[in-house]
Amino acid sequence: MGDNSYDVIVLGVGGMGSAAAFELARRGRRVLGLEQFALGHDQGSSHGHTRIIRKAYYEHLNYVPLVLRAYERWRDLERRQGRTLLTECACLSIGRPDGELIAGVRQSAERHGLPVEHLDAGAIRRRFPAFQFSDEYIGVLEPSAGFLYVEDCVRAYVAEARRLGATIRDREPVVSWKAEGGGVVVETLAGRYTADRLIVTVGPWARQILADVGASLTVMRQVVFWFETRDDVAFQRDRFPIYIADTPEGAFYGLPVLNADGLKTARHYGAPELRDPSEIERTVSANDEETVRRFLRAHVPGADGPARKASVCIYTLTPDRHFLIDVHPDHPHVTFAAGFSGHGFKFASVVGEILADLAESGRTDQPIEMFRLARFQAK
Ligand SMILES: Cc1cc2nc3c(=O)[nH]c(=O)nc-3n(C[C@H](O)[C@H](O)[C@H](O)COP(=O)(O)OP(=O)(O)OC[C@H]3O[C@@H](n4cnc5c(N)ncnc54)[C@H](O)[C@@H]3O)c2cc1C
Repeated sequence: MGDNSYDVIVLGVGGMGSAAAFELARRGRRVLGLEQFALGHDQGSSHGHTRIIRKAYYEHLNYVPLVLRAYERWRDLERRQGRTLLTECACLSIGRPDGELIAGVRQSAERHGLPVEHLDAGAIRRRFPAFQFSDEYIGVLEPSAGFLYVEDCVRAYVAEARRLGATIRDREPVVSWKAEGGGVVVETLAGRYTADRLIVTVGPWARQILADVGASLTVMRQVVFWFETRDDVAFQRDRFPIYIADTPEGAFYGLPVLNADGLKTARHYGAPELRDPSEIERTVSANDEETVRRFLRAHVPGADGPARKASVCIYTLTPDRHFLIDVHPDHPHVTFAAGFSGHGFKFASVVGEILADLAESGRTDQPIEMFRLARFQAK
């Protein structure tokens, strides 16, 4: 076997690809990871300092067993690296009692016996005076939520994968892949590689690279801001939670002040669906800022200071906003994971295991039925 042959090639080393490369290396596989940009770059979906992790999952209660496993796997990565990647921090979901957010959080918490606290508008104001929500809002507080340092997680998985023998090549765009002779051939701008298995984890580029799979993925521009507050101490995590707020003007979320950048805040969804990352406007506009600022003025007025930092990031959406993880319908030795629809990073640690399972044996014990491709194919 030549130098350019591997057991598994991982195409795209962002959130999901880095975890998959690690998991396969841990299992003793000879792994090659190929990444078009520098590791930990800011052109895809896995940058911007932090990602929220939470268990009482409003998007669907089937995610709860997966997120519980994800916590275990993040803790394993921390032990291996001897550093903190996941910090526990309460998460407050705020919305109308019958809205999708509150109803979904309550259902997941009840069904899976997760500890949460229910707060009416008065209790929200007393407990967290930085918020201003009128009496029609209620809150559900999840104490064991938290946040992950997103670029550090990607780099930690790459470091562990390399330590276990994986080859990870960054700044090396893949230009084509094809199934050949029971394996795959992958061509980059720098070389040609072969492997028994291919895992495709290309985030916002999945529509193009997985065009033959036929899942209608779109991308959506998201702009994240960090604002100066009137008093950073009042917004630190012993006093101020992670929050998600479902308002008539849209869904917004934020994290406590963690460093000199200030309060991180952004709108969730709410932008046009596009076909290609090349259509994403990378410059932040006054209009972007005004959307988020309107929310802060109304509901978190103490954080309506100057914007200290902003970042453009990309969601990759499936039509139903649930993930797409499966074996390629025509090539059983090709596995893919895409369409994380703006809520996938917290799962990267377990998605790495799932992808390794699927690549090795075509099956997994993790509950992924709702992520299969078949749901989008004509019945
Ligand atoms: C603003 C924002 C906030 C978010 N907040 C949260 C949150 O709080 N909690 C949460 O769980 N999730 C959150 N998400 C979602 C989460 O970050 C994504 O679901 C996750 O990062 C997707 O990872 P990925 O591996 O699919 O994509 P990426 O991390 O983008 O990785 C794909 C990689 O493939 C590479 N690639 C593509 N094409 C090629 C090629 N031809 N050759 C080589 N390499 C290639 C890309 O360069 C990239 O590095 C958020 C997303 C955004 C944008």
